[in-house]
Order: sequence, then structure tokens, then C-alpha cells
Amino acid sequence: MSELTRPLVVVANRLPVSRGPSGWTPSSGGLVTAMRPVIEQVGGAWIGWDDDPDGVPQRVDGLACDLLPIDLSRAQVRGYYHGLSNRTLWPLFHDLVAQPVIERRWWHTYEEVNRRFADRVAQAAADSDTPPMVWVQDYHLTLLPAMIRGLVPDAPIGFFLHIPFPPPELFARLPWRDQVLQGMLAADSVGFHTPQYRDNFVRSVQRLFNGVTVLGDQLNLPDGRQMRAVAHPISIDAAEFAQLATSDDTESELAELRAQFKDRKVFLGVDRLDYTKGIRHRLQSIELLLERNPKLRREVAFVQIAVPSRDDVQEYRDLRTEVETEVGRINGRFTEPGHDVPVHYLYRGVPRESLAAYYRLADVMCVTPLKDGMNLVAKEFVTVQAAGDGAGVLLLSEFCGTSIEFGDDAVRTNPFDVESQSYLMESALELEEDDRRARVARMAEVVREGDVYNWVDQELAGIERGRSGL
Ligand code: UDP
Repeated sequence: MSELTRPLVVVANRLPVSRGPSGWTPSSGGLVTAMRPVIEQVGGAWIGWDDDPDGVPQRVDGLACDLLPIDLSRAQVRGYYHGLSNRTLWPLFHDLVAQPVIERRWWHTYEEVNRRFADRVAQAAADSDTPPMVWVQDYHLTLLPAMIRGLVPDAPIGFFLHIPFPPPELFARLPWRDQVLQGMLAADSVGFHTPQYRDNFVRSVQRLFNGVTVLGDQLNLPDGRQMRAVAHPISIDAAEFAQLATSDDTESELAELRAQFKDRKVFLGVDRLDYTKGIRHRLQSIELLLERNPKLRREVAFVQIAVPSRDDVQEYRDLRTEVETEVGRINGRFTEPGHDVPVHYLYRGVPRESLAAYYRLADVMCVTPLKDGMNLVAKEFVTVQAAGDGAGVLLLSEFCGTSIEFGDDAVRTNPFDVESQSYLMESALELEEDDRRARVARMAEVVREGDVYNWVDQELAGIERGRSGL
């Protein structure tokens, strides 16, 4: 575990807790799980926006840090979150798979909200004997490192970007490109999922600012400061998913699913309903596959779990309509009398045991985003499959961070080429079982070796190193 000696202040868009029927509990995401032991060791605080700031308790069981909620008005949420974060930066950073919207008033709100977060960090730091380490998460808060540097000069500051960083010629389209880079450069260490995103960032810095020199991971800035830009791929709690794979609940769900899909090969997709995930392209490939192979119409099933996401944003509502129209069209065209529909579409999130059961059920897992910073579903799938001694195939887009780690053990697809993708789906069914089992085992080993605890340790050690100029 990390050698951290100072308290840690994590700053993220959201607080790591949710309110359920039995009260407040820590969220189940990988970042929160991985942070728990570190926070247990050093203590500290987590700052994030919450819709119900007065209701949030100072602490919840199982998470040894203070919860410091940020209250935002509806106008602030509209400008900072739905606007600048999700309609400008999100599509721009995902290589323009949708058109970014440029709105100056959103930018002003984004600045204002980043300032609110920075003030809260300064307050938390003032309550601490030693300056805390501050670790800022993601694209909602790119201005924060510079703002914190101004308010708490002695704090080591890290920033991690959970989405891709685009090539410099795309990033340059952002009217506030200088401010975003200056915000991030004020950190002691800036982390990205892959060397490619890191290089995109470094090249943008060199293109837009004079006098920056680069030595390995280290950037020497014109004002004499040094900082680091590093690639650390995020991951999952592999041991936890391996255990979940064969739990009693998962086994009994799996038995039900196997009875439901008896004698059929199952293709699975699990995604937030987001236009970056390539769901429409995937459905088009499925349509081509079934058009070409009448026999497969009875022999395969496609299960798409689409988790509702950002439905306050018009682009996401439009996507839902398009996806549901496409599912209806495929089922209308290819369902045969007396037989089940080819596409099973679930517009909801499912509990973890069900998710694990679907991962075990799948003969082919389709992870085919047009662009994705990492994609944890792919890592969860191979972990669960391997733990259940499975031989499922991972069809994996070459445009997601995970594909760099898995190499040729996944069947790699270019999701923009829907016709080739439909042939890859077909060929995935033809791989030898021993080969499939060996591939999944090797990919699971990659995940085990670089799990999310490893990621947290590397990140935190990197911030210390960046601070001390090593
Ligand atoms: N997930 C979930 N419930 C579901 C489907 C998915 O909690 O019904 C989780 C899944 O286990 C994974 C995460 O959502 O950890 C999705 O992460 P990923 O990196 O694949 O995509 P993101 O949604 O962050 O873009």
C-alpha cells in the first residue's frame, strides 16, 4: 500500500456515497473501493457535489473520511455539468464522435463552480496541521489544480483524467484551451490511462506554450517549475470480481439465464447509454449478421444492457430513441413465429450478481465503443469468465484504452466499419474452445497484475515524486 504520510483530500464531481433504503453507504465504484484502505490509513476528506448537501452525514460506515458536500444551484448544474462538462468537453475529448457545443456562459459557470470546489479545498486544508495531498478527479475540474495552487501553495496536488485526452489538433478547437492546460499543469502530477493520451496532452502543451521541455515523464515549465505527466491505466478490484463470479447468488442467476437461453449462443453488450459506446454501430453489425445468416436467427441471442445516463441532455434522449428504434426494427425483421426475439434489450442497471451472471453466460462480449478512455466492463468480463473457467470471447474496439493492455488476446474491431464488425462477430463463434479459454485466462492475468489498488498506489506515489521533483 502507498507510503502516504499526509492526510488526503480527494476532489471529484460527486461524493462517494449514496442513500439507499438502509441509509447512506459508500458507492460501489472501483475508485471508491480502492481508496478505502488508503483513506483508512491516513484519514482525510472527500469533496464533491451532492443534490442534498444538508442530508449528507459527515461520515458513513466503511469510509474513514469526512464528506464535504458542495451545494450547486440548478443554473450552476446546467452550465457546469450538463453544459460545459457533458456537451462541450465530453464530445471534444472523445474525438468529436458527437459535435461539441460551444457556449460562453457555460464556461463562466464552469469557472465559478471550479472556484467553489477550490475554496472548499482551502477550508479543508486550513483545518489540517500539515498541508494535505489533494487529488483531483476528471474533466469536470480541470481548472482546480491551478486554483488550489494559489490558495494552498504547499499542498502536493495530483490530477487524473478519466476520459481520453484528444489529439492536439482537436483540442485546439476549444476556445478555453489555454485555461484548461494551465489548470492541469499546476498539478505536481497529471495522470492519464494510456501513453497515447499522455502524449496528446504533452503535444498540446508544447504546441500552445513556448519554452516547455520534456524529459521522459517530466515537464520543465517556462516558470522553472517541474511536473510529471504519466500513464497509469485504471482497473477494477479483480479479487472481488473473481469472488463474485462464483457466489451462490451469481450461480443461481446463471442457472436461470442458461435455461432461458438454452441452445443459443449469447452475444452481450453492457454500456451506459452513451453515444461514445458504439451501440448503434453494434446493432447495425448485428442486423447485417442476421441478414446474411438466416440460420443464426434461431441460434444466437443478443443481450444489450443499456444503463440510463444523462437523460437531461438532448443528445442522450435522441440516442435512446435511435437505439430503441433499431432494436425494434431488428426484432421486427428477424423474429420467427414460435421463436424468441433475437435482441433482448434492458434499459436499466442490474445488480452486481446479475451482471456477473450475464458475464459468465456470454459467448461473445461486445465492447465496441467509438472512443472510450478505458472501459472497465471489458476487464470485469475477462475476470469473471476466467474465475468461472469460461471460454468467452472478447470483441474489443481498438479505440478504447483497454485494447492496449489486452493486445491480440481480444478480437479487435473497428466499430466504424460495421460490415467488418459483423464478420468478426461471426468468426468469434468459430474460435477453438482451448484457444478461447487460454485467451481469457491471459487477459484476466493482466487485470490481476494491474488492479485498481495498484493504480491508486502508482498515482499517489507519482504525486509525491512530482512534488519533490524526482
Ligand atoms: N455497471 C453497473 N450496473 C450495470 C451495468 C454496469 O454498475 O447495470 C458498471 C460496470 O460494472 C462498470 C461500470 O458500470 O464498472 C461501467 O464502467 P466503464 O468503464 O465500462 O464505462 P463508463 O460508464 O465509466 O463510461
